[in-house]
Amino acid sequence: MNLIEALNAVSDVIFPPQCLGCAEVLHPQNGKLFCPACKEKIKFITGDICPVCGTIFPDSPAKSHLCGNCLENKTYFSCARAVVSYETIILHAIHQFKYGNNISVGALLASFMADFSFPDINFADYSLIVPVPLHIKRLRDRGFNQALILARAIAKKRQIPVNFSMLKRHKFTLTQTGLNKSERKQNIKGAFEVSDKKIVAGKNVILVDDVCTTGATINECAKTLLKAGAQKVTVLTLARVLQSYTH
Ligand SMILES: [Zn+2]
Ligand SMILES: [Zn+2]
Repeated sequence: MNLIEALNAVSDVIFPPQCLGCAEVLHPQNGKLFCPACKEKIKFITGDICPVCGTIFPDSPAKSHLCGNCLENKTYFSCARAVVSYETIILHAIHQFKYGNNISVGALLASFMADFSFPDINFADYSLIVPVPLHIKRLRDRGFNQALILARAIAKKRQIPVNFSMLKRHKFTLTQTGLNKSERKQNIKGAFEVSDKKIVAGKNVILVDDVCTTGATINECAKTLLKAGAQKVTVLTLARVLQSYTH
């Protein structure tokens, strides 16, 4: 046992890990994130999804078909994948992280996301990881960018460099919460810029965010990255909002 492991072992006795869902003290065999009851409530994204945006088809009529949204609208990212659906336990944990300023919850969620296999993503194809940026004003208010904490964990796990300053959010926008799909698209339009095109030119990029709701933000980021010369943009989010399938 090295010094860090020894210190972690001591801190686990003094501050035993608690479940992110219900705050119950966790037994070591259950890991450091969720108790078995909460773990069971987490909905991993499995089954049939849109091959582009990753939206889930609850009652899939056929395998591997584009969803209505991807058929109707131009999608700039090549595909978007998420680990879990944004509800119950994960929603609560992400709220603690983002709005409760709980960075230690963030670190646990980041390792949870980094350890996920993303079965249809070949990480060897990518040479750059970029988090969805916050506007400087929001970054000052919050004190951290939740997407960067997730991106760093994936970058470390996959041995891909992360760049957090090249993609910038130069337009301050209203929060997307409470806006409908077309309002979100309009609100986020032109919000991002690439400060150094040389970094992104010709690269396959992984864009990381905490939650995908309608996809408006990630699509605008992907559009900006492609315009700056990126070859391909793939999006990974920790969670995605379930949307009912419509034609
Ligand atoms: Zn629990
Ligand atoms: Zn789709």
